[in-house]
Amino acid sequence: MATHIIFQCPVCQTRRLASPDPVEGVIRCGECNWTRNEGIHDFADGHLCRCRICGCQDLWRQKDFPPALGLALVATAAVLSCIAWAMYRPALAIGILMVAGLIDMVLYTMMGDMLVCYRCGARHRRTAIDDQHPRFDLETAERYRQQDLKQRQITHGT
Ligand SMILES: [Zn+2]
Ligand SMILES: [Zn+2]
Repeated sequence: MATHIIFQCPVCQTRRLASPDPVEGVIRCGECNWTRNEGIHDFADGHLCRCRICGCQDLWRQKDFPPALGLALVATAAVLSCIAWAMYRPALAIGILMVAGLIDMVLYTMMGDMLVCYRCGARHRRTAIDDQHPRFDLETAERYRQQDLKQRQITHGT
């Protein structure tokens, strides 16, 4: 399976999807011809170690599970469960919720992980990830948010 990188082009700001092949291949924006070609330097021991878009070394690991899917599942189960309650079938109502929870859990375990960049938000899907890679850290995220704010103030001169 080819790797997928969903990113915002640093130059023209368009949302792009890149599937470099091989994985360490050059990333390019089809809109403005921006390219980044750090190749194998973005990897350590065969694992992705920095953002392939901005080179930031802080990435967090996240389940590659569309939140909308989980939400839709929960919403459907809630509605069905309410109908069952209204029909005086409490066992069925609880059963529906339990089954939905189970499906949610199974789907969640089946989905792979992806790496998200703290700085530019690029999502690296289906890439080689170290099992020990840290998950989301609020402190790191806050640090990057502050940096970003400062950056904006400098560029806009406010
Ligand atoms: Zn571009
Ligand atoms: Zn990045």
